[in-house]
Amino acid sequence: MTSNERVVVIGTGLAGVTLARRLGGLGTPVTLVGEEEHRPYNRVLLAEVLAGRYSPELIALPAPAAPTVLTRGRVTGIDRAARTVVCADGTGIGYDRLVLATGSNPVLPPLRGLFTEDHALPEGVHAFRTMDDCLGLAKAVRPGARAVVIGGGLLGVSAARALAVRGAQVVLAQQSERLMERQLDPAASRLVRRHLTDLGVEVHTECRVRDVRCVAGAVRSVEMADGYALDADPVVLACGVHPRVGLAQAAGLEVRKGIVVDDELRTSDPRIHAVGDCVQHAGTVYGLAAPALEQAEALAALLAGDADARYTGTRSLTRLTLTGPDSPFDLAAFGETEALPGDDVVQLTDATRGTYRKVVVRGDRLIGGVLVGELGTVGALARAWEGAEPLPSDGGPLLHLLTNDGGS
Ligand SMILES: Cc1cc2nc3c(=O)[nH]c(=O)nc-3n(C[C@H](O)[C@H](O)[C@H](O)COP(=O)(O)OP(=O)(O)OC[C@H]3O[C@@H](n4cnc5c(N)ncnc54)[C@H](O)[C@@H]3O)c2cc1C
Repeated sequence: MTSNERVVVIGTGLAGVTLARRLGGLGTPVTLVGEEEHRPYNRVLLAEVLAGRYSPELIALPAPAAPTVLTRGRVTGIDRAARTVVCADGTGIGYDRLVLATGSNPVLPPLRGLFTEDHALPEGVHAFRTMDDCLGLAKAVRPGARAVVIGGGLLGVSAARALAVRGAQVVLAQQSERLMERQLDPAASRLVRRHLTDLGVEVHTECRVRDVRCVAGAVRSVEMADGYALDADPVVLACGVHPRVGLAQAAGLEVRKGIVVDDELRTSDPRIHAVGDCVQHAGTVYGLAAPALEQAEALAALLAGDADARYTGTRSLTRLTLTGPDSPFDLAAFGETEALPGDDVVQLTDATRGTYRKVVVRGDRLIGGVLVGELGTVGALARAWEGAEPLPSDGGPLLHLLTNDGGS
């Protein structure tokens, strides 16, 4: 890239802002366009705002310095021939390099009654993705309010915990048989469930919500597949996310589950790159913060002239801290947390302290692990997993990794 090329980044989430800050630091001017009204913020910490522990200002991202220009607005189209992005107010912004960092949209489940006649969500039904969602929910939750959270993944568990801390009576409805099933094995899931139950959350697994019932456009209850109805106000939708690919699709870029990029974070148009949740790299859509940051760093290096910089994938660790009124409850999971036949498993459980540690070994490699309540060893384990080095054959060092914090 030559130094006077115009770089435009769409999206002011973790990926877009990190990229703009890195490039700005290297003296490359960037026009950063974002539709959200708020100052760019760290989405990962929204549950802490909902719980009332952090103010919105506290989770603001460091602002990109001059020469970066931050423009508020929604991009509605990309004219690839004219190399211009078009905003909702009709303005056009020319680019030589365009970066899509458009993130994800919440999945809205196919529930009867979920949309009003004008295709909006009824009053009292909230997604949990943006600062506006979070502030809207915080306003709607009074102590004693009867909140129903639909979805028991990382997002639903965080939302349920935050609402309970705010004093709401919370019911968490999870369609599958356990909580956070994508990250956790059954034993770790049980500990998360116990933690939520101790906070007063009523957890229902294998429970499918079928219907949202409204009166005068406002939610009153939800109905389960078995016909059982639960009073509900508010309702939180935490049913996952999907990459936000509409702009890329309309511009004719290659899109599968996400916007397809190569190791140089290039889309099917070499002048357009993409980073973060909206991306599909080597078949994977991550939807997590660490890959978004790594992609942004790699692309900043590439655009700043480091021809050897590449993004080759992230071995991503999921980490969650559930802060209750008493002590925090930490968990971390990486790789495959459930063993296949022939794998070796080392597991340590302390029922009294509510801690659980487990690693899975295939052949001579550490392929996954889960830690609940006791995270002292997470750094050493994650390094052994990320390095994918063969483990010594006597197993001793593995037990050491599991029990000794190794200074991390
Ligand atoms: C409540 C919550 C908790 C989470 N917890 C964790 C966690 O514990 N660990 C973890 O790894 N990840 C977590 N995540 C996921 C993490 O937040 C995302 O992976 C990360 O934010 C991705 O960053 P991004 O910049 O790609 O996308 P986003 O943060 O979604 O940012 C995209 C931005 O682009 C804007 N945009 C999109 N289209 C346009 C357009 N056409 N014009 C203008 N602007 C546009 C959007 O409004 C948005 O501001 C959590 C997410 C949520 C919602």
